[in-house]
Amino acid sequence: MAANESSVSNENTRKDFIRTIIDEDNASGKYDGRVHTRFPPEPNGYLHIGHAKSICLNFGIAQDYGGLCNLRFDDTNPTKEDVEYVESIQEDIRWLGFDWEERLYYASDYFEQMYEYAVQLIKKGKAFVCDLSAEEMREYRGSLTEPGRNSPYRDRSVEESLDLFERMRAGEFADGARTLRARIDMTSPNMHLRDPIIYRILHQSHHNTGDKWCIYPMYDFAHGIEDSIEGITHSICTLEFEDNRPLYDWFLDELGVYHPQQIEFARLNLNYTVMSKRKFIKLVQDGHVRGWDDPRMVTLSGIRRRGYTSSSIRKFAERVGVAKNNSVIDMALLEHTIRDELNETAPRVMAVLRPLKVIIDNYPEGKVEDFEVQNFPHDKTRNEVRTVPFTREIFIEASDFMEEPPRKFFRLAPGKEVRLMGAYYIICQEVVKDEDGNVVELHCSYDPESRGGASPDGRKVRGTLHWVSAAHSLPVEVRLYDKLFLVENPNKAPEGEDFTVHLNPDSLEVLTGCMVEPGLADAALEDRFQFIRHGYFCLDSGDSKAGTLVFNRTVSLRDTWAKMKK
Ligand code: ATP
Ligand code: MG
Repeated sequence: MAANESSVSNENTRKDFIRTIIDEDNASGKYDGRVHTRFPPEPNGYLHIGHAKSICLNFGIAQDYGGLCNLRFDDTNPTKEDVEYVESIQEDIRWLGFDWEERLYYASDYFEQMYEYAVQLIKKGKAFVCDLSAEEMREYRGSLTEPGRNSPYRDRSVEESLDLFERMRAGEFADGARTLRARIDMTSPNMHLRDPIIYRILHQSHHNTGDKWCIYPMYDFAHGIEDSIEGITHSICTLEFEDNRPLYDWFLDELGVYHPQQIEFARLNLNYTVMSKRKFIKLVQDGHVRGWDDPRMVTLSGIRRRGYTSSSIRKFAERVGVAKNNSVIDMALLEHTIRDELNETAPRVMAVLRPLKVIIDNYPEGKVEDFEVQNFPHDKTRNEVRTVPFTREIFIEASDFMEEPPRKFFRLAPGKEVRLMGAYYIICQEVVKDEDGNVVELHCSYDPESRGGASPDGRKVRGTLHWVSAAHSLPVEVRLYDKLFLVENPNKAPEGEDFTVHLNPDSLEVLTGCMVEPGLADAALEDRFQFIRHGYFCLDSGDSKAGTLVFNRTVSLRDTWAKMKK
């Protein structure tokens, strides 16, 4: 089912509690050994990495047990839903490496059946049309410490409710004028069971059904029916729905239809970010970020553009695991996962982000030497090499030179010798400055005996610098990303403010005029590179064009989160 089966399969031999339940169900023959899950997004925004956890869990279980997993759009609320989201969600799931085959469903496909079921409940005396306004309903509802009171319409006749419900559907009433409610128990300690709304009036076009309906079913009623119709065995959802489970069960039991089992697990929370479509919408619409796929956001489209691979996201979901209690995962774990992978897969290249020109005076003008350098120098078992051209004028990193270096500075300084990676030893002879005193170029000499960067006579240098030939290097733009929020939990905002007060104003740094190895001109979107000493990079899928390449830093070389917290 998945594109890359070996990396999708579970590395943990220890089973999570959901798989344990499924094992038991299979042993007892509860669903005749069938395993059928679903991923049920509401198409009201782009998916985020929290959804990836749910996708990996649902599709992963289907894979592990030879079962099936449906993709079902839970599109019961037309006010916030859009086909743009329907499309992006499918793209993101495919990218993650999962396939729903021909099982793409919409809750809205079942509206007629849901209506029939609602009529059945009315006929059974288990539902009634209520005329209370939203505000009145709130008053009647009571509180956690106070029982609710019965609606004055609760005992209206079955015939009257049937008639009114039909007329609700026919469009005779305004939004909010009436609702259909379940007739359960206004004194239940579980607020969800206090005669919850089943249908509401909403004169609103739907992305799928157009203007066919002006009444829409509520989530709790609709969801169980959707699961039941599709023959789902294990309906996996997040912990917030634990208290809704008795209602899920009540509807299916009262209707006497096939009854899947709802199982709740802890949602993924990450620090230094928000994790809700609603909040990402705000960031996009208010222009705090450059769109849904802004590489600073943990939307799946954002982290994809940032350079995360789908295999690293699946691995991350596996490492996070499936638990029954909520926790907050460190962003460092997400970064660690991609870093681990890229360390193995991304060839090293030299890229100078803030160039400083170096002229090697005793190197012949016009001469070009091609040096062979290792793509994976840390791994002696791999002998992949590339060639980089060396010339008289090169660029080095401006921060690799200091005119008055402190004692432990082992890079370039006046009179000091360093190794140019894979090329030669050089000594800094002269510093050229502009009228403001800024260093603009260096004059150096090289030792021809140190060809390939090897020591000519056993003398040692402490520093090895990356470099690019000035004549051959490729100018590119580089985007460096920092955390989007300055605090661990941006959801907590001061009185009268919202989460956007915590945005990091310096989350994006754009560097132009960076100089990289000429070989990068052929980079493809799927390629990943380690820019030596700078981190892991990929082409930006949005703004990179032939001739004007833009690179995103996916992740730095070291964990920057740990020290930040102190
Ligand atoms: P949001 O608050 O971002 O809109 P949601 O739960 O309302 O999230 P849905 O489209 O309803 O979004 O979610 C589809 C599925 O993804 C649901 O089964 C939901 O439980 C799951 N899901 C959503 N957020 C997370 C999360 N942070 N961790 C794990 N699963 C999640
Ligand atoms: Mg939602």
